[in-house]
Amino acid sequence: MRLLSLKTTFIFSFFLLIGLMTNTAQVRAETDFESWLQGLRKQALSQGIRPETLDKALAGVKPIARVIELDQHQPEFTLTFWKYLNGAINDKRIKRGRALLKKHSKLLKKIEKKYGVPPRFLVSFWGLESNFGDFTGSFSTVGALATLAYDKRRGAFFRTQLLALLSLIDAGDIPSDIKSSWAGAMGNHQFIPTTYKSYAVDYDGDGKRDLWNSLPDIFASASNFLKASGWKSNRNWGREVRLPKDFNLELSGLGAKRKLVEWNALGVRRMDGRTLPAVDINASVVLPAGYQGPAFLVYNNFRSTLKWNRSIFYAIAVGHLADRLAGAGPLKTPKPKQEIALSRKDIMDLQSLLNAKGFNAGGADGILGSKTRNAVKAFQKSVRLPADGFASFGLLERLRGTDG
Ligand code: CA
Repeated sequence: MRLLSLKTTFIFSFFLLIGLMTNTAQVRAETDFESWLQGLRKQALSQGIRPETLDKALAGVKPIARVIELDQHQPEFTLTFWKYLNGAINDKRIKRGRALLKKHSKLLKKIEKKYGVPPRFLVSFWGLESNFGDFTGSFSTVGALATLAYDKRRGAFFRTQLLALLSLIDAGDIPSDIKSSWAGAMGNHQFIPTTYKSYAVDYDGDGKRDLWNSLPDIFASASNFLKASGWKSNRNWGREVRLPKDFNLELSGLGAKRKLVEWNALGVRRMDGRTLPAVDINASVVLPAGYQGPAFLVYNNFRSTLKWNRSIFYAIAVGHLADRLAGAGPLKTPKPKQEIALSRKDIMDLQSLLNAKGFNAGGADGILGSKTRNAVKAFQKSVRLPADGFASFGLLERLRGTDG
């Protein structure tokens, strides 16, 4: 009995101790956050943001655990091109986009005249960013940005975003309890605060730049941002093309720019077999699913789209959805029966194996960037494989020496 009671006391004390420790850690974290917030407040004041704005906007702000969770969450498998495209573009979205294009055509054309971005592109971005305004985010923007700014990982970037947000609130553009994505992307086109601050436009002239409720402001702001990113009016984004059988895959990739007349001479054709348009512009060949998948010839406006979002899949989805909204059909290249997605671990293996063989893939971080693609290309060339720079499962097996 005595022993048991001692044991019980011990267990009880043990949990009490753990409980106390957790409590202390929690209290310390809260104190740290509070003093961090005071520092931020000081900086905001020094930038001319009014104290009453800060009182209201920062009242009761606390770190949001879910935001950190989402920020640290890395999907186990990378998304394949077709999976991405089919997730982004479906018949329902096309149908609704076409109806909205018609409904707002007068406004969209007026805005096109001023900024040079055709309506089909604006509606395409709109559909991809928020499903035409359905999903603009449900997190407290101040709370989400304060959480990420306080966190060590990318604190400096998000601190800048938080300060930009506070100045937007101070200017009366947006209310202090505004909602956004977990990373602070706001409104119908999901602008981060610095983009909002620099490029949002009060097109309807009511004194506020409102990217939630005012379609004139929403469309003009997206156009203004694209124009500043180098969008060229009266130019397309690119197109799906047919490559000749003997096409030198080393010419693919955004790093290789050629005039359309040169691509023509190399045998690149439209999907119906016709020669490329006789326009004096630069273009690159992009192979988002490797040489066996669809090929795209992309122009300047594709590069402007990459300034909005760095993903090649995203930029192809924007262009293709815009084409579909204008009446075009699906891509002509058939979807393969099976697409094997590489896991993060597979990509890390691939990077280590390439590095070990002397092809510099950079750090083995599990992310397929341009460095890894270039290393894949160099390896493919060295073993006389089609050098499309595409990290396939077959290539990984070859590197592992398990392909027989
Ligand atoms: Ca307005």
